[in-house]
Amino acid sequence: MKIVVLVKEVPDTWGERLLDLETGLADRVSSERVIDEIVERGLEFAISFAEKNDGTEVIALSMAPEEATGTLRKALAMGADRGVLIVDEALHGADITLTAQVLAAALEHIGFDLIVSGDQSTDGAGGVVPSAVAELLDIPQLPRLATVDLNEKEVTGAHVTDRITLSLSAPLPAMISVSERFAEPRFPNFKGIMAAKKKPFEVLGIAELGKNISVLDRPRSIMTEIAGKPPRESGVKVTADENSGRDLAEFLKKNQLI
Ligand SMILES: Cc1cc2nc3c(=O)[nH]c(=O)nc-3n(C[C@H](O)[C@H](O)[C@H](O)COP(=O)(O)OP(=O)(O)OC[C@H]3O[C@@H](n4cnc5c(N)ncnc54)[C@H](O)[C@@H]3O)c2cc1C
Repeated sequence: MKIVVLVKEVPDTWGERLLDLETGLADRVSSERVIDEIVERGLEFAISFAEKNDGTEVIALSMAPEEATGTLRKALAMGADRGVLIVDEALHGADITLTAQVLAAALEHIGFDLIVSGDQSTDGAGGVVPSAVAELLDIPQLPRLATVDLNEKEVTGAHVTDRITLSLSAPLPAMISVSERFAEPRFPNFKGIMAAKKKPFEVLGIAELGKNISVLDRPRSIMTEIAGKPPRESGVKVTADENSGRDLAEFLKKNQLI
């Protein structure tokens, strides 16, 4: 069984997340970069499945600048068997369609039985790459799963929303995306971090994927204008005195809160 996890590197959710106001692209320097926390749960599923099922290989695949090597190695430290990083100047500022095309080509190059992704990234938050990749590979997709079961022939899982729970299944090969309702991921231990240094790690360019992918082969979304968020205005202060009750009522009325 070959499980490929689509690992996206993102600026740390708890850190300052900035966009470069010149290029409109995520500012990768000023904030710490981590594995996207939703797909990290998918990685946890793949690694724990491999621990219980001999002959399972877990591959962490990412499309990102070379600096993402460290982040992808964290997936190896968690327990993935090998890493594949797609790096190419032509992918700078890639939009969702180009990202999906490149990931689909890389998946055909690597081979797979199950592809695991997050339901949406915590930075771009498009929520469409998994479906776009499944469409390009002409395979079924089970979206936003909170639980997953897997055997040699099929994958099943529960798609849980506030109102309903859907039980879904698909024959392999297939794509699944996990939601943040999925089980918490493990932290890599020292043994894992040391083992990661020796695990196979491949860096590939577009040309090595054997597909004729060009930024120009279809319309792309581009950033035309960007502006920083206006500084937050300080709120209205009501000091406790004989008028504060009336002042508060007026403030609530003026803002149609009562
Ligand atoms: C603030 C911001 C706004 C953006 N707005 C747009 C826009 O409007 N239109 C547009 O086309 N692009 C946009 N992008 C670019 C877009 O984020 C990238 O193309 C991105 O690689 C894919 O989209 P996503 O992050 O929304 O992924 P989603 O569609 O949310 O995909 C979720 C899952 O796909 C997988 N995945 C996604 N990207 C990668 C990757 N590079 N490597 C490995 N796995 C991956 C992961 O498993 C992830 O959990 C934006 C980026 C940012 C940071």
